[in-house]
Amino acid sequence: MDFQFLGGASEIGSLGLVVRDQGRTLLFDYGMTPTDPPSYPQPAPPTIDVAVLSHAHLDHSGMTPILSRLPKARLVATPVTLAVANLLTRDALKIARLEGYLAPFTTNDISSYGSRATAVDRHGTFRHRGIEIEFTPAGHIPGASMTLYRGAKDILFTGDLQTIPTHLVGGAESVECDVLVMESTYAGKEHPDRKETERRFRDKVAETIARGGKVIVPAFAVGRAQEVLMALASSGFETYLDGMARAVNSIYLSAPEYLRDSKRFRHALDGVHVIEHPSERKKALREGEVIVTTGGMLDGGPVLYYVGELYRDANSSILLTGYQVDGSNGRQLLDEGTMTIDDTTIRPMCEIGKFDFSAHAGHSDLVRFAESTRAETVVLMHGDRRELLRDALSGFADVILPANGPSFTIE
Ligand SMILES: [Zn+2]
Repeated sequence: MDFQFLGGASEIGSLGLVVRDQGRTLLFDYGMTPTDPPSYPQPAPPTIDVAVLSHAHLDHSGMTPILSRLPKARLVATPVTLAVANLLTRDALKIARLEGYLAPFTTNDISSYGSRATAVDRHGTFRHRGIEIEFTPAGHIPGASMTLYRGAKDILFTGDLQTIPTHLVGGAESVECDVLVMESTYAGKEHPDRKETERRFRDKVAETIARGGKVIVPAFAVGRAQEVLMALASSGFETYLDGMARAVNSIYLSAPEYLRDSKRFRHALDGVHVIEHPSERKKALREGEVIVTTGGMLDGGPVLYYVGELYRDANSSILLTGYQVDGSNGRQLLDEGTMTIDDTTIRPMCEIGKFDFSAHAGHSDLVRFAESTRAETVVLMHGDRRELLRDALSGFADVILPANGPSFTIE
């Protein structure tokens, strides 16, 4: 079997893996990196039988619309993933236009690839011309799936993986395979205790409100904003939600079986004021105590409006809830205490905090998961410190750290 990463082997972003086996060509994920400017993986091969999408985040899904230009490529994913990926790729196109970048696909591509997609249940099996792919939940976010391709060898592709349960989804369960292709985002890093993190987060929110400030919570629209809202449920804070997360909420509500506890999710949303129109933002600032809003790295979206209004207020807080990539405003804020809005650099007076609400398995969880699959070969991808996992795994499996571009073979 022949493997080739088009991108995302040694970095977090632009993931794409081509697998060739017995005359078939499969593509696992095809993402972009939504930086400024965006970056893209290598072109996909001209013939692909099946493209399997693990989940909707743009670093996994952002290039899938261009597959509509290939003659017979079928796109396969859970219905939740297909719906959210459609939303995110349309948004990526809008942002590219606003920022003056040439996008690699058009609105037409997004629409026509939708018509060629096949939705597979989260525990379902896809069969097409002798190809068989089994889906199983990956934790991470609703709809995220690990996929097991039954070929000359059984290959398990994890996409992004979370083994511990979160508010939104249960943890991934083990699947036996011959070859495990596993994400490595948290190689060498462990997460702090989740319950303790949430307690500190709620305490910081309460402390800010008590001193007369407002809390801005920048959060990614897909998964993170919902997780934060569930962590705040029943706390009694006046909470507002702004940005694309509300469209994602509707998709999640329409597929309750993809949530760990849809009743609790609905209940968490019941207590939240949703901003439907930019004219309502002043009300959120006046009457709200907590504003959960996109973008999660402070690089765009309604969060910039709220920061612009509150950055001089030392009583207020900006509480980051996600990974802040190098070069992002969020990273600049954590490292230097400044951020840049429309070419103007500001130094917010607010208190700055960061809380680990990660949807990825930590180092030890990844090691345990890999061991439990009984894989003879582990291919590590989607990480910039993979050698730390290789050291931990090499006692029980052959470990491969591929590079982007060249093919490699597993017999
Ligand atoms: Zn993801």
